[in-house]
Amino acid sequence: MPKITLPDKSKRSFKEPITINQLAADIGPGLAKSTVAGKISGKRVDASDLIAEDCEVEIITSDTEEGLEVVRHSCAHLLAHALKQLYPETKLAIGPTIENGFYYDFLLEQKITEKELDKIEKRMKKLASENYEVVREVVSKTKAKKTFKDRNENYKLKIIKDIPDGETIALYHHNEYIDMCRGPHVTNTRHLKAFKLTKVSGAYWKGDSKNEMLQRIYGTAWKTKKDLDKYLENLVEAEKRDHRKIGRQLDLFHFQEEAPGMVFWHSKGWTIYRVLEDFIRRQQIEAGYEEIKTPQLVDRRLWEQSGHWDKYRENMFITEIDEEHANEKRVNALKPMNCPCHVQVYKQGLKSYRDLPIRLAEFGSCHRYEASGTLHGLLRVRAMTQDDGHIFCTEEQIESETKNFIEVLSHTYKELGFEKFDIKLSTRPEVRVGSDSVWERSEVALEDAIKNLGLPYEISEGEGAFYGPKLDFVLTDALQREWQCGTLQADFNLPERLDTNFVGEDGVKHRPVMLHRAILGSFERFIGILIEHYAGSLPVWLSPVQVIVLNITDKHSEYSKEIRNSIKKNGFRVKSDLRKEKITYKIRDHSMQKVPYLLVVGDKELKNNSISVRARGGVDLGSMSLSKFLEILKKDIEKKN
Ligand SMILES: [Zn+2]
Ligand SMILES: [Zn+2]
Repeated sequence: MPKITLPDKSKRSFKEPITINQLAADIGPGLAKSTVAGKISGKRVDASDLIAEDCEVEIITSDTEEGLEVVRHSCAHLLAHALKQLYPETKLAIGPTIENGFYYDFLLEQKITEKELDKIEKRMKKLASENYEVVREVVSKTKAKKTFKDRNENYKLKIIKDIPDGETIALYHHNEYIDMCRGPHVTNTRHLKAFKLTKVSGAYWKGDSKNEMLQRIYGTAWKTKKDLDKYLENLVEAEKRDHRKIGRQLDLFHFQEEAPGMVFWHSKGWTIYRVLEDFIRRQQIEAGYEEIKTPQLVDRRLWEQSGHWDKYRENMFITEIDEEHANEKRVNALKPMNCPCHVQVYKQGLKSYRDLPIRLAEFGSCHRYEASGTLHGLLRVRAMTQDDGHIFCTEEQIESETKNFIEVLSHTYKELGFEKFDIKLSTRPEVRVGSDSVWERSEVALEDAIKNLGLPYEISEGEGAFYGPKLDFVLTDALQREWQCGTLQADFNLPERLDTNFVGEDGVKHRPVMLHRAILGSFERFIGILIEHYAGSLPVWLSPVQVIVLNITDKHSEYSKEIRNSIKKNGFRVKSDLRKEKITYKIRDHSMQKVPYLLVVGDKELKNNSISVRARGGVDLGSMSLSKFLEILKKDIEKKN
């Protein structure tokens, strides 16, 4: 006679044990339709599981993240079912969920290519449309072994061997096909309607390259066809915008094996970098920062004092040097962060409360070891340059400094073409340094600063760093993808560790608060984001080449050079293309290079002392004088977007 408590605290009593599915139907037919699984006393279960005792029950529907996970996992089983029907000799390994989808690993002599995916997907659809029941059966280890021995599934047998005695083993019956799994899974394939197989690849059994290579099929699954279509569209678009591809096409940068995760910037890419750096520098000067530069290679003693040697060493590049005559061995590390060095600059000379706040900024080159598998173009590198800054201030100044920082940040993002960003405030975690009253005051200061600006924000309870509360700033790009870029973190720890002081109004030494802050995060990653956001067509002010002058024939090359030189003299980035190629070819070539303005020069232009202007996207602005064009260019750059 179970008495069931639902998440809204309402209670329902039943005479007999009932399943999650029956409970959902008892609440309402709409709910029953979208029920894919449930939770009994917090434990995830199948919708066919019986509720026998008094407990708390939650129903998982397909429109939640958890429900979608169940759908995706069940699609992996459906894929295996289809594979077994089409290729009965398939030996199944594992089929977990991943972000946005699922995969299944299997052994099969025949190589599955993209061509076969269509056929396999069709079979999955056919099976799903049968709306068959998926039946869960709890079995003994002996029975599980027998089941898979009879079916020649040796990977399943290997998995069973690793299951500790006494652990529940569940089989999932999909008509004639049987899988083994913790679940939960949907109880009927009618929930599996919006999926697509996306690609094939190889994968080692257990991810170990000493083991045999299996085949892997990836798929994506969603609640509705509409969600699926939108995802696929974004996928195609994201692939087109991949900054690594665009970086190659536009000749911006490259990577090579001799320096993994470190960028070789080509001239055009480095131009974007420098323009961005100048822009940030101007913002910082306006906001009252002093720019500094500190060493990249620093003795381990400083890292020991700062605590990095203890906590962060596995990510640090360590170098040793034998000082030839001194007979002294020094161990240095490439700095993974700039903070301890900034404290050293602050500590030169006694500081008084009148000096605060002190804002130090550095385009700081940092190196961090990241596993090679996690490196991803500009988005995840080992050598990065942060737009780093540290504000040394009193507790009372935290709020106004935070407010100023957010103002600069939101202006910067807007100028770079990102209208929308979200703020997340992370508060005190369980393990932390500093007194509760200091934490309380700084959390309130950060929150008040955001409130004062009238900006929306979210609170992540307990997600702060051990040394202080922090704000994270998350951008949304043109594909609605989110990127955490900016950050502001209050720190009560480092000033203490590195014995940092100021003399207060009372004549006594106090510890300053240190605010770590960055707007872009790193130049490398941010340029990667910019390239994808703009699909390579950067706004004119950021474009490495802003104008190209094209001559129609050799007769016009002198005039073309003249035009180019005057534009250059006016401070714009301009090139000319005087190759003996058809003008249509040259126009196409530079359009592909996403150059914002193409100037065409022929007989007519030479005669009228004018130029013909084509803006990006094939927009014909007609013929005009050079001074008129320079005006357009100037305006374009001023308004930034
Ligand atoms: Zn499963
Ligand atoms: Zn810092």
